[in-house]
Amino acid sequence: MIIEKYKVERPALAIHGGAGRWERAKAEEEKYLDVLEKSLLKGYEHLRSRNNRIESVIEAIKVLEDSMIYNAGSGSSLNIAGEREMDAGLMDGESLKAGAVTLVKNTKNPIELAYLIYRYTDHMIIGCHGAEKIAEYYRLEKPPAIPKHVFDRYKETLKNIDKVEYIRRNKDLIDIYKEEIYGTVGAVAIDIDGKLAAATSTGGIMLKLPGRIGDTPIPGSGFYSDSYVACSATGIGESILSISLCRSIALHYRYTKDLEKSVIEAFRELERIWGKNTAGIIAISNNNTLIFAYNTTAMARGYKDPNNIYYRIF
Ligand code: ASP
Repeated sequence: MIIEKYKVERPALAIHGGAGRWERAKAEEEKYLDVLEKSLLKGYEHLRSRNNRIESVIEAIKVLEDSMIYNAGSGSSLNIAGEREMDAGLMDGESLKAGAVTLVKNTKNPIELAYLIYRYTDHMIIGCHGAEKIAEYYRLEKPPAIPKHVFDRYKETLKNIDKVEYIRRNKDLIDIYKEEIYGTVGAVAIDIDGKLAAATSTGGIMLKLPGRIGDTPIPGSGFYSDSYVACSATGIGESILSISLCRSIALHYRYTKDLEKSVIEAFRELERIWGKNTAGIIAISNNNTLIFAYNTTAMARGYKDPNNIYYRIF
């Protein structure tokens, strides 16, 4: 497992663009890095000028969702039926309020829709047609057509499977798209007062069964924030769900007050069942410690604070 640890200054924003092998992206690394930089600058502006942690994570994620090259929003991976089914969620650490959407097809920015659930409803997670109805009511933009490279990749992956079975066990699925990058996106922010927020958005794992819901829209699994830790996860959703990865880290932190140890402990539990090449996280604590951790080959990641901007894939 690879761990990077930084002491940041407030306010600070960190993002990820998915953990995985990133084989295909090697030749086009610049393109991916460019989007990371834009996302950090856009999201950070909302921290710097308005000290708004929620807006900051949303704006950072919208840049990634709109980029077409990360697995979220317009660039989302397709399910086995060749459709987009997107999930997103966000959480405020101060109020423990969260908003999330799942199985959304007709919204350009699922993270905006998650925000509407957070802001205007009494609920935390709304799925499918219910979520789309809210998107319509608030006149959210529709997504563009599925980009050609996403569709080509879907077709190519299907071709490479000798016999496509409609129902496969997840571990088989994981083997099928070994070379695939995951590319889910996430963000965590700490404002000038030490208050935290987290958000995550994804198209889910490629070739998932229609209707499958992963970790991303589930508070505590794909994202979590309380007043001590904010965390966003990426990887095989089922592995993350099985130990509620982000909440596990936050709970360990409550007792250890050591973010690095907390992350190591949570990954140990996850890897005991699921092994390596399964997950990545970004986490920030209210004492300004930032951790990037992944047990895959690489993870697109970056942060910005008043003094530094940093972004990398490998
Ligand atoms: N965690 C996401 C899911 O399982 C996929 C990813 O992180 O790429 O839906």
